[in-house]
Amino acid sequence: MENFSYKNGALFAEGVSLVELAERHGTPAFVYSRSSIENQWRLYAEAFARRNALICYSVKANSNIALLGLLARLGSGFDIVSGGELERVIAAGGAPAKIVFSGVGKRSDEIRRALEVGIKCFNVESEAELLRLNAIAKEQSVQAPVSIRVNPDIDPGTHPYIATGLRQNKFGVEFDRALAAYQRADSLDNVALLGLDCHLGSQITSIEPYVDAVKKLRRLLSDLEEIGISVQHFNIGGGLGISCGDEAAPDIGTFASAMLDLIPEQYETILEPGRSIIGNAGVLLTRVEYLKTNHEKNFAIVDAAMNDLLRPALYQAWQNILPVVKHEQAAEKQYDIVGPVCESGDFLGLQRELSLRQDDLLAVFSAGAYGFSMSSNYNSRPRAVELLVDRGNERVIRARESVEQLMAGETLLPEEAMH
Ligand SMILES: *Cc1c(COP(=O)(O)O)cnc(C)c1O
Repeated sequence: MENFSYKNGALFAEGVSLVELAERHGTPAFVYSRSSIENQWRLYAEAFARRNALICYSVKANSNIALLGLLARLGSGFDIVSGGELERVIAAGGAPAKIVFSGVGKRSDEIRRALEVGIKCFNVESEAELLRLNAIAKEQSVQAPVSIRVNPDIDPGTHPYIATGLRQNKFGVEFDRALAAYQRADSLDNVALLGLDCHLGSQITSIEPYVDAVKKLRRLLSDLEEIGISVQHFNIGGGLGISCGDEAAPDIGTFASAMLDLIPEQYETILEPGRSIIGNAGVLLTRVEYLKTNHEKNFAIVDAAMNDLLRPALYQAWQNILPVVKHEQAAEKQYDIVGPVCESGDFLGLQRELSLRQDDLLAVFSAGAYGFSMSSNYNSRPRAVELLVDRGNERVIRARESVEQLMAGETLLPEEAMH
C-alpha cells in the first residue's frame, strides 16, 4: 500500500492525484498501481528463486488483460478456473505452457480448448473429471497432463466461504481416497500424471495451515513412491492473506523458506497466489452522494455499491476506507458507508469514524483483488472504469460500461408475439 499515500492531506497513487483521477474519469473507479503489482510478483519470484518454482498468478483475483499482460511479461504462469480465463491469458500474451487449470466443474469444451493450446496441467478435482479428461485426450490423440488436487482437511482459519481445504468443502479429492485416485489415473492411457496439488482457502493469515498441509501431502508422496507412482511437481496453491488493517499478513520470504524447507528438492514447486499479488495494489474510488441520519445511525451513501465491491456484503470483509482529502480539524462521526443498491446488505464498511461532507471522495483500500472481478450489473449499474497508474501517468485499462452495453444482448419481442 506504500504506493497510495498522502501529500499535504490529499491521497495520491504513485504520484498521481486521486482527486484529479476522479475529475477526469468519474467515480466509481478502480485505481491500480503498476509498481505495486510488479513488486509483489517479484517478491514471490525472488523468495522461491533458489529452487525450481513456477508462480502461477490466480487470474480470478483480477483478470483485466492489461494486468495479466504485465505479469506475463515478468514471466508469470497463470492459474485459471474457466475457459474464459484461458482466453484472457492467451489474449494477454501469457504462455499456455505455464497455465494450470483448477476448478471442480470443467466443461468438455473448456478441456478441449485447454488441450489444444497445450496448457501445463489440469488440477483434477474428481475421478469423474479424470475419466472425462482421458476420453477427450483420446479423441485428440494426446495425453492430458494431470495433477490431482487433494483436499488435506486442514482448517485455514478464514471465513467459511473462502475455506476450501476442509473435508466438507466441494473441492479436491478426499485425502483418504487420494491414493486410489492416483492409481486410477495411472491406469488411464491418455492421462499423464505430473503432480500433486492442494489449495487451502483464501486470506490465510498464518503459515501453520500450509506447514500442516505440506507435511500431510509429503506422506502421500512417499506412499505413492511405494506403489511406483512418481510425480514431478508439488503445487501448494494460493491463499496467502494480505494486511487490510491492523492484522498482519505473513511475510512472503518467511512463507517461502518454510515451504522450501518442507518440499523435497526433486519437485518443481508451483504456487497460485492471487490476492497477495494484487489485493493491496488497488483502491476503489467513490464519491459521497448524500449524508443521511436516522435516530440510530449516520449513513454516507456513496456511488459505489455491492455490485462493484462484493466482499463486504458476501464475507463481512473489512476494508479500510479513508478520505481522499482530509478535512482540517473537522469533527468525526461514526458512519455506515453504504451504496445505492436496494439491499440492506449493500455496504462497503460499517461504523467508520470519518469526517464527511456531501461530494467528498473516499478510497476503499485493498480493492485490487476480488473487486472488479466479482462485480456485477445488479440494479442495471454499469461496471466501474479501471485505471492503471504507471510512473506518474494514468491509463484507462477498462472503460466504464455504458447502459447500451448492458442491454446489448437483449431484444424486444416482435409486435406479433406480444398478443
Ligand atoms: C482462488 C484460488 C487461488 C488464489 O487464491 P488467493 O487467495 O487469491 O491467493 C489459488 N488456487 C485456486 C485453486 C483458487 O481457487
